[in-house]
Amino acid sequence: MSILVLGSGQLARMMSLAATPLGVDVQAVDVANNQVVDPVTKLVSQHSLDSMLTDVNAITAEFEHIPEDLLAKVHATGKLKPSAEAILTGADRVREKALLEKLAIANCPFKIIKEVDQLDQTVEELGNQLIIKASRDGYDGYGQWRLQDQSELPALKAQLAELDLEKVPLVVEKMLKFDRELSMVGVRTEDGQIAYYPLAENLHYQGQLHVSIAPATQISPALTSQAQTVFNKLAESLNYVGVLAVEFFQMGDQLLVNEIAPRVHNSGHWTMHGADTCQFENHIRAVRGLPLGSTKVTSPTAMINIIGCKAFARDMLSIEGCHLHWYGKTPREKRKMGHFNLCADSYAELAKSMLALAEYLPIEHFPLLKTEAARLAKIS
Ligand code: ATP
Ligand code: MG
Repeated sequence: MSILVLGSGQLARMMSLAATPLGVDVQAVDVANNQVVDPVTKLVSQHSLDSMLTDVNAITAEFEHIPEDLLAKVHATGKLKPSAEAILTGADRVREKALLEKLAIANCPFKIIKEVDQLDQTVEELGNQLIIKASRDGYDGYGQWRLQDQSELPALKAQLAELDLEKVPLVVEKMLKFDRELSMVGVRTEDGQIAYYPLAENLHYQGQLHVSIAPATQISPALTSQAQTVFNKLAESLNYVGVLAVEFFQMGDQLLVNEIAPRVHNSGHWTMHGADTCQFENHIRAVRGLPLGSTKVTSPTAMINIIGCKAFARDMLSIEGCHLHWYGKTPREKRKMGHFNLCADSYAELAKSMLALAEYLPIEHFPLLKTEAARLAKIS
């Protein structure tokens, strides 16, 4: 049994690590040069992309920004899961917003603009605190601009005038004052079976995910059911196969969809140690047509991204329930280099482990760790 993943980064690697015990071989495509590589060793395969497309049982993707010609070629094999339509929806904020509107799913108020001058009217309609997002090729907060005050508008317009907005329109959103960010990661099989992980709470810093706590604290059954209903609508309308992540903003007892990711997701990495079956294994199971594994939570878990930091001593592994995933990438500012999963028996114990972890780390790279530990310490 073999699966080909479009993209050869850490998500493909974690899929491979989860697939191997099932007897499923995972190979990856480096979309920059169409070489087939082993996602764990990074060794280049002797097999060409074309021969792999013919030989593998299924094809999936670790990210949505797949070059158009490659996506078309893979779509033509009939083996791509989730579908090209689902991947394109996640890749293009204009399509994504259209789907949310079509399904009447609450999301952030927005306008799509193709000319910089439309921004003036948009400020009239949405207010003068805006987040402007390139409709394609953005991730981790890249391809985003913020308007905090009307006085910044001329400078922002000058900056955006450099872009080709006919080709890549902008989605302009009202900057929301939400209570917190949550996400739901779930998985759907070809015959429509769905399993969800519980909502995770996601803490961002400068537009990038730093910490996820799962299960999120203080979640009412009504909130979970709202998230699951949204997940079902999206997954069913896309006839989705595999893991799908939905990012939400919580405002009071309402969830607004921020965006969807048609793939395994950073806010689901906690499942590697905090759930019975991790998101990577469940994605492989769904894509390969195997029964899904239980998504039962085994312990409260904090997933802590390692961002922009070089290698460090690994003494923190002495902390009970501490697991490191180091992706082996070349360090760059703001680049995700790895993550920790910390598991504990309670949120209070988790808070203690987070504080212990902070002692081992260059704390400037982990700006939210201690404050989040302080918050969790108060939760019984
Ligand atoms: P990622 O790849 O990490 O998911 P992204 O680049 O795809 O990020 P978004 O998820 O749209 O972009 O935005 C990144 C973060 O910026 C959000 O998680 C949130 O913290 C903040 N943000 C985005 N849109 C809004 C908004 N309309 N109002 C307030 N904050 C926002
Ligand atoms: Mg996001």
